Amino acid sequence: MANVPSVQHIIQSSQKKLSPDERKRIERAYEYARKAHEGHLRESGVPYFSHTAATAENLAKIGADATTITAGLLHDTVEDTQLTIQDIRTEFGDEVAFLVDGVTKLGKLKYRGLKRHVETLRKLFLATAADPRVILIKLADRLHNLKTIDALPREKQERIANETLEIYAPIAHRLGIGNIKGELEDVAFRVALPEEYTATLALREEKSRENVRQLRALSRALSKLLGQARITVSSMDYRVKHLYSLYKKLQEKDMNIDRVYDIAALRVIVGTVEECYLALGLVHNTWKPLPGRIKDYIATPKKNGYQSLHTTIFTGDGALVEVQIRTEAMHRTAEFGIASHVGYKEKGGTSVDSSEGWVEKMFGRETKRVGGVSPVAAWIRDMAETQSDVAHPLSFIRDLKSDFFNARIFVFTPNGEVVDLPADASPIDFAYSIHSDLGDHAAGARVNGKFVALSTKLKHGDVVLIETKQNSKPSHKWLEWVKTGAARKKIRTALEKN
Ligand code: MN
Repeated sequence: MANVPSVQHIIQSSQKKLSPDERKRIERAYEYARKAHEGHLRESGVPYFSHTAATAENLAKIGADATTITAGLLHDTVEDTQLTIQDIRTEFGDEVAFLVDGVTKLGKLKYRGLKRHVETLRKLFLATAADPRVILIKLADRLHNLKTIDALPREKQERIANETLEIYAPIAHRLGIGNIKGELEDVAFRVALPEEYTATLALREEKSRENVRQLRALSRALSKLLGQARITVSSMDYRVKHLYSLYKKLQEKDMNIDRVYDIAALRVIVGTVEECYLALGLVHNTWKPLPGRIKDYIATPKKNGYQSLHTTIFTGDGALVEVQIRTEAMHRTAEFGIASHVGYKEKGGTSVDSSEGWVEKMFGRETKRVGGVSPVAAWIRDMAETQSDVAHPLSFIRDLKSDFFNARIFVFTPNGEVVDLPADASPIDFAYSIHSDLGDHAAGARVNGKFVALSTKLKHGDVVLIETKQNSKPSHKWLEWVKTGAARKKIRTALEKN
């Protein structure tokens, strides 16, 4: 059952308003990708194109811009068809090509070779993505792969599920994309921990039934109250907690579900920040709040940009329920995070330099890009304007940077294995970190396909190939070019032998 979303459906799903030109480009990319993947099937036997179309639909739904949706349609063309990145550039321009290239590179990343802490893997993932939109595409891609995971062999299912829980979902969370994070986690949870999944599901069913009844009654009373106070309520709804986050909460609470107060929560969307506080006041004036459970994430947003007021109240009939109050803009940020903030219009040829990572980019000198500010910089500025606490997105990225960006770079073998080196390391360091023989006989190097001198300083994300000759030997000069102790030691040993 190949469920292929139509291009009209993708366009209609868009949370961003698309111009006629943008629609046309999406339609063109849709046809282009469909033809490119013609005859190409997924492991389940359905047409491959159903996957790329679904990825684009996921992107449209989280408010990604037209360029990202276009790149989403094309994201597997370079990896899986005869097309080259040059073809994409010619047809769809630099920016789309840049994003497709980023997704292709990210797809080559192999986590298995790296025996490091998962936090490092997340950082590596972030650092490798040349632009946050590349991550959005990867998340949308992963979401569809998870939803169709049942067609895969069990072992592969488990690998994908674990990788999702350890790397993809935390990144979606960090970027504030609550909408995707919850879905990713719940599918991966079912595959990775089937028994815990079933037990949590049963608990939630049982508990949320009575909870939802209480919330309905409360919502009627609250509507009336807010109406009398002339507070603009644009929507009032309840949400049931996602399973994996409920499971994690239960673990903190000794698996006692009666200690989890937000299995179902009433969500009130009002017009302005002032009205958020007014509404909270009215709620507390009418129902007694549970001490210690009042959270003002408007004044102090969560690290990922999430803003809302939370309180847990006694409904009067023995129940405790959580009420969340926020504005429409805060709600969009909670659901779509960075997705609703990135994306900028192409104005007469955008040149994008793909050689630097986006995280570095925004910390380097003021980013000067033809056609606009860097999307992340724009996102951060945006967040800073809407929040009293400006520290959070910056501190996240500052943490990332101070950890290793000044000190470490990640480069790749032609097979996509990751090599972790100090900044300014040379191809010689790279060669020795793979094998002494490779270092001892290094005659030249190719970086991203181009021949370079062995003294070249490698940059983050470079793909490095070492050319060897049996009669090549280390020279004294090499000692000036290397940054790693291991390479230095091996060069000295080789020099002594000669
Ligand atoms: Mn894909």
